[in-house]
Amino acid sequence: MPSYLDTAKHWRRRTRRQNKVVQAEATLETLRRFRNISPLLLLINVVYILAFWLFGWDVEAGFLAPHTIAIIQIHSVMVLCNLALGALSHLIYRRAALAAVYKIYASLLQILICVSYLLFAIRLAVVDQMLATDITSFVLICLLVSMLSLMTPSKNIVLFALAYLLYFFSIASYQEVPEILFRLRGNGRNVLLMCTVVSIIVWRQYRESIILKREILHAHRALARKQIELEFLATHDPLTELYNRREFMRLAEMELARARRFPSPTHIIIVDLDHFKSINDNYGHPQGDVVLKKIAHLLNISVRETDVVARLGGEEFIIFLPETAQTDACAVAEKLRKLIVLENFQVGEKLVPLRASFGVSGLQAGQSTTLDNLYLAADQALYQAKQTGRNRVNYAAPGLVASPAPLSLRSKAGDTDDTTD
Ligand code: GH3
Ligand code: MG
Ligand code: MG
Repeated sequence: MPSYLDTAKHWRRRTRRQNKVVQAEATLETLRRFRNISPLLLLINVVYILAFWLFGWDVEAGFLAPHTIAIIQIHSVMVLCNLALGALSHLIYRRAALAAVYKIYASLLQILICVSYLLFAIRLAVVDQMLATDITSFVLICLLVSMLSLMTPSKNIVLFALAYLLYFFSIASYQEVPEILFRLRGNGRNVLLMCTVVSIIVWRQYRESIILKREILHAHRALARKQIELEFLATHDPLTELYNRREFMRLAEMELARARRFPSPTHIIIVDLDHFKSINDNYGHPQGDVVLKKIAHLLNISVRETDVVARLGGEEFIIFLPETAQTDACAVAEKLRKLIVLENFQVGEKLVPLRASFGVSGLQAGQSTTLDNLYLAADQALYQAKQTGRNRVNYAAPGLVASPAPLSLRSKAGDTDDTTD
């Protein structure tokens, strides 16, 4: 049984692996978020500059107050930073999806964005001390960074710890009252602690969502693969990979219907291997299977693409030949017979001869029958071929049925009936 230590180690290793997998995607997501939000941040900075410019005048002295100038300077720098970082985010976000080298630039840019915003927050907190002991803008900007940037917890801890160090020393430059300084440092520590926690929560949620998304995608792909596999199994014979009997019947019915709609000659051929049982008996079932696969392949590659080849079962195959006249169908069967004769089967040193009998049946253009009738006739032809010595092609005409009237004529007849009534 694994100890708690082993479980913790396993959990740590798994988390690290997941962090690594997700980080590249998270960096791109950060750039995307920053690119989208940067116009708003730009606007806020410009509004601040204008507001301080319009209302920050020292009326008595007749010029801008020193802290107003400092705040306008900071926001002006931020406007430039925003423009540059926003444009870079846009460029790198679009390219990082294509080339791996941009992924490195993307992570550097992510750190640059976080660092510049935290510096901005600290500088604002310091300058604000000229006017009041307020650090609201510092809190808001730090929160924005923690929620916007997706980084692993370790990186976040380092980032906010360094930010706190800088804040701790910088805040003393304009705030000299020890009690206020003590309180500000305490507040700053709490704010950055809270931001660290928020950033870790945001990271974990993002990581879980990405992992879940990947798992769903993976399951979806596996399901799609399985569905294709199942569809194949339902319509094909597993040994020869030809169509199975059921699928053949479905396709043949469709072809017969087409031949009725656009009158054309249509034929079927049934192929039955001669004395196949003796191959099984003499060389074993596995060798028999090899022969079946070989013959199936031979039949499949020797007919037209529009012809449908299927395994009826055992050592019997069937071929549907649309738009093929009787002479052509018999010629195809004869060609296949000769090809099978040439296709000796080698077992060790020995060459085993292969033979097959063929039953052909079909319709001339404009004739009509059922698939059952066609099959029955071809089977009878095959039986005759077996009876008369095997290794031959035999033809039998099917029993015909009256062709159903075309739909348009039928509806016209119905119309007439209605009127007579
Ligand atoms: P005929 O010339 O009269 O057609 O004789 P045959 O031996 O070919 O015909 P029969 O119907 O007596 O035997 C068919 C044999 O096919 C019997 C059966 O074991 C074998 N068979 C059926 N399905 C498979 C299969 O999937 N693999 C193998 N190896 N043999 C099969
Ligand atoms: Mg048979
Ligand atoms: Mg046979």
